[in-house]
Amino acid sequence: MSSHALPGSDTDRIWTNWGGNQTCTAAVFARPRDETEVLAAVRHAIDRGLNVRVAGSGHSFTPVVPTGGMLLDLTRLTGVTGVTATDPQRLRATALAGTTVGDFGAPLWDAGLSLTNQGDIDKQVIAGAIATGTHGSGIDLPSFSAALRRVRLVDGHGEVVEIDEGDARRLHAAQVAIGSLGVMLEVELAVSPAYHLTEEISYRPWQQIVESWDELIAGHRHFSFFWCPADESADLYQLPAPPDQPMADHCYVKLYDEAEIDEPAGIVTTEGHRVDRAYRIYPGGFDTPFHEMEYMVPAEHGLEAVSAIRELMRTGHPDQRYPIEVRWTAADEAYLSPNHRLATTVISVSGAPGTDYWPFLRAVDERLREFRARPHWGKLHFMTRDRMAELFDEFDTFLDVRREFDPNGTFLNDHLRPLLG
Ligand SMILES: Cc1cc2nc3c(=O)[nH]c(=O)nc-3n(C[C@H](O)[C@H](O)[C@H](O)COP(=O)(O)OP(=O)(O)OC[C@H]3O[C@@H](n4cnc5c(N)ncnc54)[C@H](O)[C@@H]3O)c2cc1C
Repeated sequence: MSSHALPGSDTDRIWTNWGGNQTCTAAVFARPRDETEVLAAVRHAIDRGLNVRVAGSGHSFTPVVPTGGMLLDLTRLTGVTGVTATDPQRLRATALAGTTVGDFGAPLWDAGLSLTNQGDIDKQVIAGAIATGTHGSGIDLPSFSAALRRVRLVDGHGEVVEIDEGDARRLHAAQVAIGSLGVMLEVELAVSPAYHLTEEISYRPWQQIVESWDELIAGHRHFSFFWCPADESADLYQLPAPPDQPMADHCYVKLYDEAEIDEPAGIVTTEGHRVDRAYRIYPGGFDTPFHEMEYMVPAEHGLEAVSAIRELMRTGHPDQRYPIEVRWTAADEAYLSPNHRLATTVISVSGAPGTDYWPFLRAVDERLREFRARPHWGKLHFMTRDRMAELFDEFDTFLDVRREFDPNGTFLNDHLRPLLG
């Protein structure tokens, strides 16, 4: 593809993420319309020695997108392209890489299927969610990455490659690769039979969560909570606490369980108690940007680790007001997954944009080191290559596969080169 065939004006070349803390001006910005144009764009970049990154919906807080080379936007490659719903042991959905998580809901439902789990929002493109190990909550529920069964991508040789379940070594590398193996074109996910969920919201003192910790984790499909250090904390994440509800040292608790209902009679939309199709229950919204860091610790140490961060906030960083969000994720096999061979408790903290929250985040990182915490790649972290080698048993296997796909480092940027180059 010659450069004039690559769409994009000067203004288009400036990219900024949702959180407003990452930005770049790409030399070339392209919005390919189909696989052929993606392939041509990547070959164009390889010929000119440009690095290539793909922008998803920009919901990562880390510099996983910025490049001064070629930036690709795949929002024209969207849609669920196929489902396999007949064999209960092999329920599958195939979609183009730019399809948002939200875009799966209705077409899958019509086919009698649902995504097995979802996170707090559904704005991410599926390739972006997979690239960073995006997850919801549930100790038996895997991340989007773990659900990946087949991916079609353009590699650093400028070729279209397909990886499937028959090739576990390459699939486990591709499941969490932070965009470093190539440009994903199409993905196939393991999915579940369509299900409804009940959502119960409650407000509980911290001590009550401590006392019912194991029971809440084991007793519900999804258990998650936001611990609030102060009354005003709930507002920072738009948690809809009633005006008379104390929030300091209290938790906003979400419990989801599967429900057998008939539509439309069984659908309930009362605030605090809803029953609906799963894909309509999961997504919330965060209107105001924050800057988030999230680490996963082995679930057996979850209570100890969350208690340690609560104590750190109360004693060492009382100025930090964002809640701690706590979730769970099932173990998986992806080499760079924070849940690699370990079910984890997921601990997230945030800082206010425009403030110096780094000393706080560094202190959280230090405190969670003793739990061998591993990061969410889309959220702020302090990983170095040495730490990765220590924390990820298959780090070298990942690096070997990455080099096979991208020997010249076309898909690396300044953030990823020191970690994965
Ligand atoms: C408000 C908010 C709520 C969030 N909630 C959750 C949550 O509940 N659970 C959770 O785990 N995370 C959550 N996140 C984090 C978010 O899910 C991840 O950062 C995710 O990667 C963002 O997806 P995206 O489409 O925005 O991708 P981007 O952030 O744009 O990109 C992420 C990575 O994917 C790569 N990529 C995108 N498309 C392709 C492609 N086609 N081929 C190759 N690489 C590609 C990019 O290059 C980049 O490396 C949240 C973030 C925000 C801001």
